[in-house]
Amino acid sequence: MTGPDTAARLFRDTFGEEPDGVWSAPGRVNLIGEHTDYNGGLCMPIALPHRTYAALRRRDDRHLRIVSAQGDGVVELDLDDVGPGSPQGWAAYVAGVPWSLERAGHPVGGFDVAVEGRVPLGAGLSSSAALECAVAAALSDVFDLVLLDSPAGRVDLAAVCVEAENTVAKAPTGGMDQSASLLAQQGHALLLDCRDFSTEQVPFDLAAHDLALLVVDTRAVHELVDGQYAERRDSCEQAARELGVETLRDVDVADLDAALERLSSDLLRRRARHIVTEIARVEQAREALRADDFARLGELFLASHDSMRDDFEISVDELDTAVTSATSAGALGARMTGGGFGGSAIALVRRESADEVRATVEKSFADKGFRAPECFVVSAAGPAGRDL
Ligand code: ADP
Ligand code: MG
Repeated sequence: MTGPDTAARLFRDTFGEEPDGVWSAPGRVNLIGEHTDYNGGLCMPIALPHRTYAALRRRDDRHLRIVSAQGDGVVELDLDDVGPGSPQGWAAYVAGVPWSLERAGHPVGGFDVAVEGRVPLGAGLSSSAALECAVAAALSDVFDLVLLDSPAGRVDLAAVCVEAENTVAKAPTGGMDQSASLLAQQGHALLLDCRDFSTEQVPFDLAAHDLALLVVDTRAVHELVDGQYAERRDSCEQAARELGVETLRDVDVADLDAALERLSSDLLRRRARHIVTEIARVEQAREALRADDFARLGELFLASHDSMRDDFEISVDELDTAVTSATSAGALGARMTGGGFGGSAIALVRRESADEVRATVEKSFADKGFRAPECFVVSAAGPAGRDL
């Protein structure tokens, strides 16, 4: 059954009524520009064909009833009981959205919602933003907020979802995921400038060039990830403070060496070098795409991965193995993507060699005794919207 139908059926089975409609929002994979969002930098995600579906019905009171095919049971609460850290667990990603909409001055009320998630959970492909944005799209329509109809409205919705995730779900994210889910266009990558959240659509039609993007979900589980994310963020902020700039975005790559000499430790030098060079690589990737220079894009993927492994230290053996084995099997380039310490890698491959690259990656994982990875080819899909 399709995603919209599955969500609608879960709604009927749970609540005994018809939903007002079904809305969905995609997960994303970032092509390049990692950990740059909270540094006011650039990143370049695409929306995935994998989406999260929300069948939703508006209520006349302020009650929320939330069910998910990937959650457990029905979560019931009052909208007035939603706040920082409440509710706990997965329902926070849903309940946080109306709370955040109201804080941003958009009047909403209670609703019943049934969720069907087809973005792999916790794989670094942003199932959390897909969930928030599907709910946000639904609420915009059923409460007549008209935020889906314009790019500016969608930018507002993305900010609302970021606030929901940061404050209610208490997960620090920098804004890339929600922008990708609401603003990315089919056949395009979204160049996102996280200094002012301006965007640019960059053509990304690999099939037209007999290429494909292979995602390798390593399914690696690593502990202490939250602390690592906070440490990287703190290091970047400290480096910016020592350099007297607001964010590392303000350091020009041409002045990098001089800037690095002024930092107080080798650790800060490596962290800052990753961010500044990574932002430059995003700009170079945009130029490569505009020139259809995919060999260059592949080189940039590899340089980005090296920087994340050596300078930012967010890779793990599974991600390195995915990158090295994909490259050895003929990928034009590959890199880990997302926050690191597990999650997914991407490889830019010739379409006819996608199966061979996948088989090589799977064999390397088996040889090393890793969990079998999940590999799939993706194209750049469209943003959040109404399905039924
Ligand atoms: P990612 O966004 O990369 O998938 P996160 O840790 O940010 O990883 O978000 C995953 C969390 O989002 C899940 O643990 C769950 O709490 C919530 N979530 C995402 N999709 C769903 C869903 N379909 N149903 C219930 N919870 C979901
Ligand atoms: Mg997430």
